[in-house]
Amino acid sequence: LVSRENNAERSLVTVRGVPIGPGYTTVIAGPCAVETPEQTLQAARMAADAGASLLRGGAYKPRTSPYAFQGLGEAGLKVLSDVRDETGLPVVTEVVDAADVELVASYADMLQIGTRNMQNFALLQAAGEAGKPVLLKRGMNATIEEWLMAAEYIAQRGNLDIVLCERGIRTFEKATRNTLDISAVPVAQDLSHLPVIVDPSHSGGKRSLVLPLSRAALAVGADGVIVDVHPRPETALCDGPQALVESDLAELRDAAQTHAALL
Ligand code: PEP
Repeated sequence: LVSRENNAERSLVTVRGVPIGPGYTTVIAGPCAVETPEQTLQAARMAADAGASLLRGGAYKPRTSPYAFQGLGEAGLKVLSDVRDETGLPVVTEVVDAADVELVASYADMLQIGTRNMQNFALLQAAGEAGKPVLLKRGMNATIEEWLMAAEYIAQRGNLDIVLCERGIRTFEKATRNTLDISAVPVAQDLSHLPVIVDPSHSGGKRSLVLPLSRAALAVGADGVIVDVHPRPETALCDGPQALVESDLAELRDAAQTHAALL
């Protein structure tokens, strides 16, 4: 269903009127985690300044350590929907449990499946039935074929509004959190008709890498990027070191606009 063999044309996915796919350079930005209403609103304004047309933000955080901040849950979803009302930015947010899909879908405009859940097949199937577009991150240990098969689980349930997101894979290299597999973008676009975007924040894990990796992603043909921003990264409850700050935003916006003008 997601293969390009039977669908030669690349697909366009629309999230509450915002297009992702051929002909567009879509920026998704926002805080890694929803912490407070003020922080989320400030981050959403930063996202808009960075040229974002969609707001990201985690209310359910799949953390490596059970002692790390796990997200605000439904209270975080309410914050995101209030911030959408205030800014007009549609919301992309992660769901980590099949049992929560209906609840998350009642607030979100797009469901995110994170790297750790790429092969949580019950979650993929539930997301496929939720009636909302799905952002499917590549598992950090997954091959491109496994990633596309995960997308197939969603598509099988009748939902072809899927956007693939390359977010780095595990390698021997320790200088970055994960190794951004830049070749995955053209390879996945060649094998699948689905749009492909890149997350330079979670792959690099460092603020200084986010702009160069964003440019690299757009240069190889990614349909957009998803980045973390935070008004005060030093106080962030999750992934502060990779969040873009105010002074980075114009550069990201210019990179995306320059790329969009070439399409
Ligand atoms: C995220 O985008 O908030 C996230 C946790 O990303 P990943 O699943 O790619 O680690």
